[in-house]
Amino acid sequence: MGICDSCHSGCCRSFAVPISGADIHRFTHHENKAFWDFACRWEDSEGLISRNLAPHFYFADDPAVPFVICLKHIPSVSFPGTTKCRFLTECVPDEEHPKGLGRCSIYGSRPHTCRSFPAKLNDSNELAILYDIPSNGRNGEAAYDLCPRQWNASDLEPNDTIQSLVIAQYEMTFFSKIAAIWNQNPGEWNNFPEFIDIIYSNRISSEPQSSSKQVPSEVGQTKSHSTEGLGPARKAA
Ligand code: SF4
Ligand code: SF4
Repeated sequence: MGICDSCHSGCCRSFAVPISGADIHRFTHHENKAFWDFACRWEDSEGLISRNLAPHFYFADDPAVPFVICLKHIPSVSFPGTTKCRFLTECVPDEEHPKGLGRCSIYGSRPHTCRSFPAKLNDSNELAILYDIPSNGRNGEAAYDLCPRQWNASDLEPNDTIQSLVIAQYEMTFFSKIAAIWNQNPGEWNNFPEFIDIIYSNRISSEPQSSSKQVPSEVGQTKSHSTEGLGPARKAA
């Protein structure tokens, strides 16, 4: 039995879970979910959510505040007065599991941030390092209790873990480039889903048919507000 199997999923209650544009695109296009049903913008003035991995986005309707795009939280039924990820299913407590069990309702397509928890890549991006998990993820309430013990290497499949971490890092790096474009001229929060949809629906293009091959422009080297190499430019908000 895995360490998570008998847990009430304190991690899915305690943390703001950053998502990438790729996660958003997968949920909206392949899971048939509406952006407003699963995504939110989480204020992150102190950088505690982004942790230098997830990008900060700015929005015209609240221009001074840096936000991280995260999974939405909703009120918990099992622990009144607390919140949980909107995809966490709560099971009724029983004698063996007094806090109840928690189950991810989108386990097969959960965000890469969730897949790689509680590991991160080392400095050379070749090995995984397990985080030290605190006993509680927020304010000491039982809902936010975390793992019943520290994780060890045998809890994770090594290749799957590294591959999840690499994809998570790749997608957050790409999302950071998208954030840099958006933040040049921030639009309203209401316009964000359309912007993301345009970008991520145009990640594949054909090789130019001319004999003189061109090197595609790097995302980070585009001219001011140009999304060359990323598909159609964003409409002005
Ligand atoms: S998506 Fe699933 S694994 Fe991730 S926080 Fe939500 S319930 Fe937990
Ligand atoms: S709190 Fe720890 S043991 Fe519980 S579900 Fe999350 S990662 Fe697994």
